[in-house]
Amino acid sequence: MKLFDVYPLYNVTPVKAEGAYVWDKEGDKYLDLYGGHGVISIGHTHPHYKATLENQLSKIAFYSNAIQNPLQQELADKLGELSGCADTHELFLCSTGAEANENAIKVASFYNKKSRVIAFKNGFHGRTSAAVSVTDNPKIIAPVNAHNPVTILPLNDVELVKSEIAKGDVTAVIVEPIQGVGGLDQPTTEFLQAVRKITKENNVCLILDEVQSGYGRSGKFFAHQHHGVQADIIPMAKGMGNGFPIGGVLIAKHIESWYGMLGTTFGGSHLACAAGIAVLDVMKQENLMQNVQEINTYFKEQVADLPNVKQIKGQGLMLGLELTYEVAELRKKLIYDYKIFTGGASNKNLLRILPPLNVTKTDIDVFIKALKELL
Ligand code: PLP
Repeated sequence: MKLFDVYPLYNVTPVKAEGAYVWDKEGDKYLDLYGGHGVISIGHTHPHYKATLENQLSKIAFYSNAIQNPLQQELADKLGELSGCADTHELFLCSTGAEANENAIKVASFYNKKSRVIAFKNGFHGRTSAAVSVTDNPKIIAPVNAHNPVTILPLNDVELVKSEIAKGDVTAVIVEPIQGVGGLDQPTTEFLQAVRKITKENNVCLILDEVQSGYGRSGKFFAHQHHGVQADIIPMAKGMGNGFPIGGVLIAKHIESWYGMLGTTFGGSHLACAAGIAVLDVMKQENLMQNVQEINTYFKEQVADLPNVKQIKGQGLMLGLELTYEVAELRKKLIYDYKIFTGGASNKNLLRILPPLNVTKTDIDVFIKALKELL
């Protein structure tokens, strides 16, 4: 049977991985500065992650959400502690980023009984129905998803948000604290704080999509914590399972749950929780958020003098190098000639860097040496 052909693929076949490195079937070693779209948080095949998953697999891998599963509470407790949200939010577990956003939007709409969502230019929130309809890319919105009431506004224009909310039909404002796919643009602190105020005054939910920017990637647990705001709803996924499909939604305590409000077969399985717990253990034990901040500083110092770099965008280890020209050819050279994985964005001049959170200065030096030769 043929595979449904939706992905343009690089001609690389990884068969093994460790830390920030991946080996292909020819035995060639690659530096992974992309982590498969920002998923690898604690490094490939981390020993504690492997041991936790192997141990869980030999006990019980899965049962549905109809029984007691204490691993879910252990995960919630560790997440509450590390994120600082223990006293303000509750956790719903699912499996992907789109599913987290889908549930986030549903929760908002159930809560205030409204239906229109305000989203932003260049935003990306996933490919399921509500998630894709708040994504600013008409090409991936199928006719069946095109009728959800959504208004896409330019980022950082408070007055426009205010006038849309004044119409009285808005359930939620959804925004990425650091845009991923769109190219690392960020809402300003001033904008986020103003939107928080307006949404609160009008009983509109503020959804801060931390699917990519969360889990320590920005140097704080959540990227919005750099701005002194609190979200009503926080969707999360990528770094949460270091490659195991697990997502979640943090829901503020004033939003009440009821039986049947949300649900999933796979979300919060024993194996998924084991992966999530292992990630949080390693993040805490290895002080990874501190490493993110240190490597961010080092990276910025090293790239400061490189030619053809227009600007360095992003925060922590969610970084973008905006060049004066398109990066497609550069990315090919990096992967085939220098054995370094990087990412692209809808801004074609932007090289995206999403390394594991425990990447080292030595790893970064390998990349800088390649850039010095290529730029
Ligand atoms: N939200 C953001 C900010 C993302 O970057 C992504 C994926 O890139 C998603 C949601 C969708 O996540 P998933 O691909 O796991 O459905």
